[in-house]
Amino acid sequence: MMAQYLALKAEAEDCLLFYRMGDFFELFFDDAHVAAACLDIALTARGAHEGEKIPMCGVPAHAAESYLARLIKAGHRVAIADQTETPAEAKKRGGSKALVARGIVRVVTAGTLTEEALLDSRTANWCASVGEAAGEVAIAAADISTGRFEIIDSSAAGLAADLARLAPAETIAAEGSAQATVARPKADFDSARGEARLKALFGVATLDGFGSFSRAALAAAGGLVHYLDHTARGSLPFLRPPRLMRAAETMAIDRATRESLELTLTAAGQRKGSLLDAVDRTVTGAGARLLGQDIAAPLMDRAAIDERLDLVALFHDDAPLRETLRAALRALPDIGRALGRIAAGRGSPRDLGQLRDGLDGAWRLGERLERIDPAPALLAHLAPRLRGHGALIDLYARALVPAPPIDAGDGGYIAEGYDAALDDLRATGAGGRRAIAGLEADYRARTGIAALKVRHNNVLGYHIEVPARHADALMKPDSGFTHRQTLAGVVRFNAADLHEAALKVGQAGAHALAAEAAHLEDLIEAALQAREAIAATADALARLDVAAALAERAVEGGWTRPDLVDHPCFEVEGGRHPVVEAALAVRGERFVANDCRLSEDSRLWLVTGPNMGGKSTFLRQNALIAVLAQGGGYVPATAARLGLVDRLFSRVGASDNLARGRSTFMVEMVETAAILAQATPHSFVILDEVGRGTSTYDGLAIAWAVVEAIHEDNRCRCLFATHYHELTRLAERCDALSLHHVRAREWKGDLVLLHEVADGPADRSYGIAVARLAGMPPATVARAKAVLDKLEAGRAKTGGLAAGLDDLPLFAAAVEAEEAHTDALRDDLIALDIDAMTPRDALDALYRLQALARE
Ligand code: ADP
Ligand code: MG
Repeated sequence: MMAQYLALKAEAEDCLLFYRMGDFFELFFDDAHVAAACLDIALTARGAHEGEKIPMCGVPAHAAESYLARLIKAGHRVAIADQTETPAEAKKRGGSKALVARGIVRVVTAGTLTEEALLDSRTANWCASVGEAAGEVAIAAADISTGRFEIIDSSAAGLAADLARLAPAETIAAEGSAQATVARPKADFDSARGEARLKALFGVATLDGFGSFSRAALAAAGGLVHYLDHTARGSLPFLRPPRLMRAAETMAIDRATRESLELTLTAAGQRKGSLLDAVDRTVTGAGARLLGQDIAAPLMDRAAIDERLDLVALFHDDAPLRETLRAALRALPDIGRALGRIAAGRGSPRDLGQLRDGLDGAWRLGERLERIDPAPALLAHLAPRLRGHGALIDLYARALVPAPPIDAGDGGYIAEGYDAALDDLRATGAGGRRAIAGLEADYRARTGIAALKVRHNNVLGYHIEVPARHADALMKPDSGFTHRQTLAGVVRFNAADLHEAALKVGQAGAHALAAEAAHLEDLIEAALQAREAIAATADALARLDVAAALAERAVEGGWTRPDLVDHPCFEVEGGRHPVVEAALAVRGERFVANDCRLSEDSRLWLVTGPNMGGKSTFLRQNALIAVLAQGGGYVPATAARLGLVDRLFSRVGASDNLARGRSTFMVEMVETAAILAQATPHSFVILDEVGRGTSTYDGLAIAWAVVEAIHEDNRCRCLFATHYHELTRLAERCDALSLHHVRAREWKGDLVLLHEVADGPADRSYGIAVARLAGMPPATVARAKAVLDKLEAGRAKTGGLAAGLDDLPLFAAAVEAEEAHTDALRDDLIALDIDAMTPRDALDALYRLQALARE
């Protein structure tokens, strides 16, 4: 057995091997150590290998999914070695001692899951593949839980951003490539082989019908298909024809920007607290997955955005329609994923039931939606896709019981009346069972034993059971009963007539099961025949769910339809930050709406004002509004006219970001450099406290130069928040730059933050008032105030901000020296243990302190 195990393990070295033994999957050696620790299950030992005990642990096969889920989540890959013949077959083949043949039937990896229990129903599960050829780079990505297949023409510079948009569960690439989380042989990524593989997969002579693929795209797709085939061990899962995506079709958002704006996940990696979470009112898993993709990849095509918005507007303005649609969608099963499981060969009767119910619901919804007149273009396109499956629905309605089971093994999923022969078999079985029940009464009467029972178990089949004290009567040779088994307390027997009746029941049952299995196969085949159309129906339902959900969100929050234009303006009235607003609402606080007006001749806003005044919030809300609008949704504002954004950038100064423990000043500078290199006049950039991660003068100088470059060279729309007052001087030489501040007031010595964005620079920085607000000790606050007064006096003496700039180091040095001095005096004073001093000590100390003060 160990030899067989080791041979299988050699086939799957980078995986944990689940080795089937009876009702368990067992793990051995290092695998056992890893799994026992990860799953918190007992580590045992078995036999010996090369003189050492073999570590082992196991999980029950019937509960394997939940254990798999935990291992996959923890980043492992699992190869499943199952029995490929029955013990009976093994005996026939190799005698009574023969080992049952086993083979790896599947490799379970994060990117190749289809099981409901292992997947998040609201998130797409991409497996991505990176291909390189002829100096080009492309990504192929598949979500085999629904059959989606995308090919993205990427570039060396854009690869990281494109992967960040997909957020794949797993990324494969050729060995030696920097991209791979899973390295595969180079040969798998050969573009010519990839082309052949795709043609074979889709049964076409040319791929031209799908679009024109670069060599890199073919390499990526070929590598992906090969990998999926490899993990599924030859039964390649369902893939729909690839959709070719071009980078220019969507707003470019790099990884740092995605993370900083928390579009679909927060910095902590959670969905809760992200923009997606604040917007998502979808009622189906497929809708939630699509909304996630829409937000991750806002469109660049104005007509396509307007099509989406028209549909949202329809549902926004018609509350009863929206309610009807959402109620109907809510009741529908996830047909996309049911189809994915069926196509992967793991479909159950319940999946077919889900298809039946989902398609039937879609049909009825389609009827309702087709009555809408005039219909927005997108609706006219979607509605017919809901009604393509009349024959399949009829078939399933006739063939399946109302709630088919997940496990096909016990039968009972084919409805009565679908197959007369099956009905007969079932009647025979039922008759037999009735006859057996009748026999029980007979036996009782015959023996006079009221406690006699006819029972059934898997080992003995039907048998007669009596309490031990009654057994003697049945043991007599002429009793008509044959002894089978004696247990503590009971004795079991058989009888000829019972045996015969049981045989009938057994045969009828086996035939009925076989008949059901044959029907199941046909019903699955029918789904596979229609899989393209079913997938299209699933897509249409998801799109409707997204549109209705965006409408629902807009109504709920009083959002508005954005007006998209081609010239680079950005006019938002009464804009709000959906996530911050929701967080404030929980605390019963109100969000202060703010306007933002960028145009070609006023494209850079410099926003100053106190810490906690709302600068970062203001910057982000405008970036989020751009994302929502181009994703095809309403926006949290009272009015918005937006020029299409080709690239969106968000950078946060390093020290603002320290909590995450990742961003260093170096990273901040690398990211800022990327903006200066890539932002175009159609881009939208938010820079938040850039330059903060280094010393004051460096930081100020860098921020200064960055603002100038953005203004002069990139000429993009930009919001720049800074605590460097000195930057406001830039307004004098940059004519498209204007000054703004978040308002604050000091009231009776307290700082009141108004969170209102107003024109002009902040009158001062309020840092000290914020420190007091934060609960800093009064003595420290007073000290800070004294230092500030000195600095400002110095500044005034040298005349104005710009001059003060040059002289600031001197003042800082002066303050520092003075600080060092007072500190020494103070430290010394504090260190004195007065109670323990003799009068002589005290006098000495006084002299010493005075000398220190005179220095
Ligand atoms: P800054 O970047 O100026 O330090 P933030 O944008 O981080 O300030 O905002 C600090 C806090 O102020 C937020 O967490 C939020 O609670 C509150 N806040 C910000 N903007 C607003 C607003 N427009 N209305 C109400 N509260 C706000
Ligand atoms: Mg801030």
